[in-house]
Amino acid sequence: MTRCPQCGTRMNYNDETTKLTEYACPRCHATEIVKKQSYHSTA
Ligand SMILES: [Zn+2]
Repeated sequence: MTRCPQCGTRMNYNDETTKLTEYACPRCHATEIVKKQSYHSTA
């Protein structure tokens, strides 16, 4: 589980697309975009 780098609160996440996950802190509203790695892309 991802924690907020600013306040340490567990971040909520939204599956924006199949390729990206957006994490959002409910406390300080920091956001973080993480690329998913579940797919075998061209190496
Ligand atoms: Zn936070």
